[in-house]
Amino acid sequence: MNTVGVILAAGSGSRTGLSTPKQFLLLGGKTVLEHSVQTFCNHPGIDQVVIVTAPEFMEKVHDMVKANNWTKVTAVLAGGKERYDSSMAAVRHFSAHPDMVMLFHDAARPLVSERIITDALKAMETYNAVDVAIPSVDTIVQCDAAGAVMESIQNRSLLWRMQTPQGFRQNTIAKAYEIALKDPQFTATDDCGTVLRYLPDEKVGIVRGSERNIKLTYADDLSLLEFLLSIPER
Ligand code: C5P
Repeated sequence: MNTVGVILAAGSGSRTGLSTPKQFLLLGGKTVLEHSVQTFCNHPGIDQVVIVTAPEFMEKVHDMVKANNWTKVTAVLAGGKERYDSSMAAVRHFSAHPDMVMLFHDAARPLVSERIITDALKAMETYNAVDVAIPSVDTIVQCDAAGAVMESIQNRSLLWRMQTPQGFRQNTIAKAYEIALKDPQFTATDDCGTVLRYLPDEKVGIVRGSERNIKLTYADDLSLLEFLLSIPER
């Protein structure tokens, strides 16, 4: 398999309330982005890594690539306004490689593990699209648009929380977006959501994630990540 890890790091991270985007915050002496990229670079099943970041951070990321001697990083790409714009930058970059297995990972999930990447690559031998997810321990309720009242409670045993990486054959994700972008009703979603909606015959496989693979979203998450980093994975 020809494989690439795509590290999505073009978000502004406004929900942290901090001026530095969350992927550039420090965790255990290095940036959150460096943790994510390093795990993909270390994985023997990953042939190359590309990093997608905001235009104003491209130089900083190039410097980081040099400083870490990341020889697997083959490109730093400019991302876009929405997450899917950033994914699309990588999909287009590999348009000459329809069989490429692309694992899209949120830079903001610095504790992704070698085991998760291995399992995602394995699942790509069976499916053209996969997502890492964990069963929901909380009951999930659908509310009205105002978040004022409940509308329905779903069966918890069927509900999983999505994480990343999300994996696709290049031609699968390219096809899904080609159809999606012609649809005037298309709204920003994650990449698996686009495949589910626009390629309904394509099965999206599920790979077991981890409670450690959390996404840094609020400033307080950094303390939790520091703690998780200090304890070995079981
Ligand atoms: O905003 P959210 O937490 O969903 O972002 C998940 C990941 O996607 C982050 O690592 C963020 O940097 C990335 N992202 C991106 N381009 C955007 C928005 C988010 O690469 N336009």
